Amino acid sequence: MDSCRTFIVITLFPEPVLGMLNSSILRKAQEKGIVRFTVLNLRDFGNGRYRSTDDYPYGGGGGMILRPEPVFRALQFARESLCDPVENPLQGGMVQPRIVYPSPQGRVFHQKDAWDWSLESRPIVFLAGHYEGIDERILLGNTIEEWSVGDYVLTGGELPALSMIDSVVRLLPGVLSDPHAVRNETFSGDFFDYPQYTRPPVFEGMEVPDVLLSGDHARIGQFRREKAREKMLRVRPELLK
Ligand code: SAM
Repeated sequence: MDSCRTFIVITLFPEPVLGMLNSSILRKAQEKGIVRFTVLNLRDFGNGRYRSTDDYPYGGGGGMILRPEPVFRALQFARESLCDPVENPLQGGMVQPRIVYPSPQGRVFHQKDAWDWSLESRPIVFLAGHYEGIDERILLGNTIEEWSVGDYVLTGGELPALSMIDSVVRLLPGVLSDPHAVRNETFSGDFFDYPQYTRPPVFEGMEVPDVLLSGDHARIGQFRREKAREKMLRVRPELLK
């Protein structure tokens, strides 16, 4: 496989997804050739003349469910698009991607998972759910992983997919101009990131702490560690080891 990481998003809402993928760091990562993004419109795999993708739930209840056939076809298409007999001649070119269904019922995604995924080379396919979710038969078997971005419910899987992509891509070598920055960030170092200040030196009567203007790097480091620890103790004491 080439070293360019591939991410595929299957969604009913390609425009907003493309908007985010083509902005800021994610756009730069593409321009540098570090990542490749493909967005597949689930509607293109829909049923019949009207490209229908959803239907009423068996057994009653409110809301609509994504039908299994369009999702299955979109996943097949994604898998086939990853097939590369030149790079991967042994398995007939097949590459096994990680397939992720963002779901509030999934395992909660943490920074450690972002690091783990950033160290893999396999492509990641995100299947963004909508309505009341997808037909359960798509999830049976163990090839699709369910991952949650937190204990709350969103309208669709687009924002979770983008969150996970962004958190992984910014860790890939060469994406950020300062590669050390991510090592000390919140959830990567021992404490939260420290409080940051920039100009002006006085804002609304509040001054930048003297120590940051002192040029004494040992004291600055100590001040930052103390403040980061203080905040973590106040806000997320359970994270302090
Ligand atoms: N009926 C589902 C339930 O109660 O578990 C919620 C469906 S939600 C309205 C629609 C879609 O949003 C889901 O299929 C999933 O893809 C996505 N989603 C919602 N909350 C999420 C979360 N916390 N993490 C990841 N994906 C989420």
